Amino acid sequence: MKELAIDIEHVSFRYGARNVLEDITLKVEKGAFLGLVGPNGSGKSTLLKCMLGLLTPQEGEIRLFGENITKFKQRDKIGFVSQKANSFNSGFPATVFEVVSMGLFAKVGMFRFLTKKHKEKVREAIHNVGMEKFIHQNIGELSGGQQQRVFIARALVSEPELLILDEPTVGVDTNSVRNFYNMLSKLNINEGITLLLVTHDIGAMTEFVTDVACLNKNLHFHGNAQEFENNHDLSSFYGHDVQLLTHHHDH
Ligand code: ADP
Repeated sequence: MKELAIDIEHVSFRYGARNVLEDITLKVEKGAFLGLVGPNGSGKSTLLKCMLGLLTPQEGEIRLFGENITKFKQRDKIGFVSQKANSFNSGFPATVFEVVSMGLFAKVGMFRFLTKKHKEKVREAIHNVGMEKFIHQNIGELSGGQQQRVFIARALVSEPELLILDEPTVGVDTNSVRNFYNMLSKLNINEGITLLLVTHDIGAMTEFVTDVACLNKNLHFHGNAQEFENNHDLSSFYGHDVQLLTHHHDH
């Protein structure tokens, strides 16, 4: 078995008396592209918060790259992009280059000048999300999907080994969603970054991910994308809305 990027064992979480996660065991190998799906309120954000060390489960243990999350020191190994990231309005005075540079501040310090090497890293990250044409454009002038790519680039400059994306396609128009997933798939394959993509609908996702996990308080399924698609009960329950949409476009 390959080394594990994420190792969740028997995790349960309660808000007060309310059980939100029940006995979750989920192991994700390095190099995987996992789609974590579940309806609204199924505990996806809570699980992410536990993984990021923001919430402490009452039971169980979480390790990232073999290290217990409560002792985890290698913060820059983990990149996180939330759905609320794309909230810049058109007046926001920063270019794509500047926003992506912010991803280096933790490393180089806010007021240090970027070296030539740092600038190259910023350009490379922008290239990897396919936004080089917009490098000098103001972030607020871009569409939701384009802004989300810029936030991914910002997470990429610190060269994370695991990138966690919380509903990144909220606000991305349906025509761009496939391109967006394709871009993520390239990051996974070409850069070897382990990806955890959290979403409440599956849409075209199963074409691009390697594995799918279905959460609804319990973990109902974890397997490869093909197994998920072949299991019609699961795929129709977890992908209901979007499958209708996809079929509509096909005809
Ligand atoms: P998802 O991300 O899948 O939509 P969440 O993890 O946000 O699900 O929420 C899971 C359940 O926990 C929901 O029923 C939600 O109402 C509840 N919940 C979320 N955050 C809190 C909180 N801070 N306090 C109490 N209940 C919460």
